[in-house]
Amino acid sequence: MLPSTIDEDGRASARQHLLTMIVDDQVAIDAGCLAFSCSDLQREQIRDVVLTHAHLDHVAGLPLFIDDLFATTIEPIRVHGTPEMLEILERDIFNWSIYPRFSELRNGHGGVMEYRAFEPGSPISVKHLAIRAIPVNHKVPANGYIISDSSRSFAMTGDTAETEEFWRACNETSQLDAAFIECALPDEMADIAAVSFHLTPSKLRRELEKLTDRRYPVYIINIKPMYRSQVVKEIKALGLPDVHILEVGKVYDI
Ligand SMILES: [Zn+2]
Repeated sequence: MLPSTIDEDGRASARQHLLTMIVDDQVAIDAGCLAFSCSDLQREQIRDVVLTHAHLDHVAGLPLFIDDLFATTIEPIRVHGTPEMLEILERDIFNWSIYPRFSELRNGHGGVMEYRAFEPGSPISVKHLAIRAIPVNHKVPANGYIISDSSRSFAMTGDTAETEEFWRACNETSQLDAAFIECALPDEMADIAAVSFHLTPSKLRRELEKLTDRRYPVYIINIKPMYRSQVVKEIKALGLPDVHILEVGKVYDI
């Protein structure tokens, strides 16, 4: 998970405003802070961005990531999402007003940005990864993913409230090695969590009960920065086995 936010001493803060997760330095899941904090190697290698949904905290770094690479990229940056997500991006961000419509622009090597639309449920392949998209329960069209290479697999919810199909897909996956699950808000904000389609620690506990025979760690992501310490405290108090808070900027070898 790339750092998105700095503290008053100029260091990466655990409080995250934006989400980007990088797999094997090659594929970005979401692009909230992709341009702001990826390494030079990642900027050189990443040409595939898979979106969970089009909310700003998950896409804010995408226009600038493409801008940074505009003059030099040999391959286009491929943005993977459902048709609804891609339509939102094209209409509301890459609309010549907020930012250029990169999908219509070329550099000396060809196109610089391509949309790769897929329907949830149909497996897609991105670089060396096989990806299964599962619709989750958020305010806008959103997916969770199960992502596998030839030997390892992990699941990631993106943003979601209570959901069913995602947990079923986790249970159907023969060997899952980790799951990255959202928990945005503290329990006292359960009403706001309900209208904004997020989880709180108590809701998280009920959701995790839908996983049968879990033998892999769960890492919590998408904690709203202003409530981070409260959410972390509440999750720890639940004493859920093998549930951890994902650390910013740490490389996880699952
Ligand atoms: Zn969202």
